[in-house]
Amino acid sequence: MQLKIFFKTFPETSKCLSCGKLGTIRRSRTKNIWEAALKATKTANLYKCRECGWRGIRKKYTVNKYSLITVVFYTLLIVSVAYVIRQVLMKNFGSL
Ligand SMILES: [Zn+2]
Repeated sequence: MQLKIFFKTFPETSKCLSCGKLGTIRRSRTKNIWEAALKATKTANLYKCRECGWRGIRKKYTVNKYSLITVVFYTLLIVSVAYVIRQVLMKNFGSL
């Protein structure tokens, strides 16, 4: 079972959003403070298409259906643990 919420993306091997060609996207240098700030968050990178000149942001991580399953799984886990703790507390200190 995969217990990951965020999955790494591979923009270098994905299609260009503008021209749709595969394998033309390369990392691009930051050009201003906002791009540098974005890069510093380590959640996204700047990319540039060698074919059509498209330049933009691609996220480093993505969520998919497994993320949802994992979130549901963790939520159920937390709720059940909280329930058990509550039961134990009620049993031991319920008369207070
Ligand atoms: Zn392109």
